[in-house]
Amino acid sequence: MLRRGRTRRLQRVACSVLLGGPVYESHLHSVDERSRLGATARRVARGVARAVVPGSIVAWRGQATPGANGRGTRVALTFDDGPDELTRAYLEVLAQFDARATFFVIGERCVAHPELVSAIAAGGHELHPHGYSHRRFPSLSPTALRAELAVTASLLPDYPRRRPLVRPPHGDVSLGSLGTCVRAGFTTVLWSRDSGDWRTTSADDVCAAFEGDCAPLEPGSIVLLHEGQPWTLRALPRVLRRLREAGHDLVTVGELLDG
Ligand SMILES: [Zn+2]
Repeated sequence: MLRRGRTRRLQRVACSVLLGGPVYESHLHSVDERSRLGATARRVARGVARAVVPGSIVAWRGQATPGANGRGTRVALTFDDGPDELTRAYLEVLAQFDARATFFVIGERCVAHPELVSAIAAGGHELHPHGYSHRRFPSLSPTALRAELAVTASLLPDYPRRRPLVRPPHGDVSLGSLGTCVRAGFTTVLWSRDSGDWRTTSADDVCAAFEGDCAPLEPGSIVLLHEGQPWTLRALPRVLRRLREAGHDLVTVGELLDG
């Protein structure tokens, strides 16, 4: 009986997550249980979504096209949460390795640092919205979310031949927020490889996500990294060297999705 009740609760949580939202919290008892079941439900929701959601709505990885050098494959590095005072240093490292990347930027930071938006674009990288205020998309009303998308996109370069892309803060989505993004014309971009740089302050930990057993990146991988973190910046040369040695072609997410 206990197991059946738990299963029902999990199903309710999963449905609530899929159907849009934080409503599931009211069904649960403790913070621990809520976060544990919430994480489980999100995994379930993601598994279901990967199987049934078209790539034009949510993309976890791109096309498995071989790299330009005939070895390795094309992969895309993505950097969330900028721009900020470390952006230029990130750009210098990427330029040293002739690597292009995709920056999912926060609208209010673009307003504060328009010169950094220009510097990122001038380096041949792509910029796409990561929300305006970095609030979780499922917590916003459809009107507020549409406004966040529109205002942030208006601060960034146009990619007229491509469907606009967006990465939700914390990768947090609901069916409702996904629907709003789709209706606004955006494809939600998540990731297939998490560097884990958000849960550490050690450059070695970030490097370890690309070394040893973790090393092989699947074709078309989209890799999650973050701006504004000195340890990510310190790890970046080693990570890029590693990916170059493996023969990966470092392209933008837009290019990866185009195939
Ligand atoms: Zn973020």
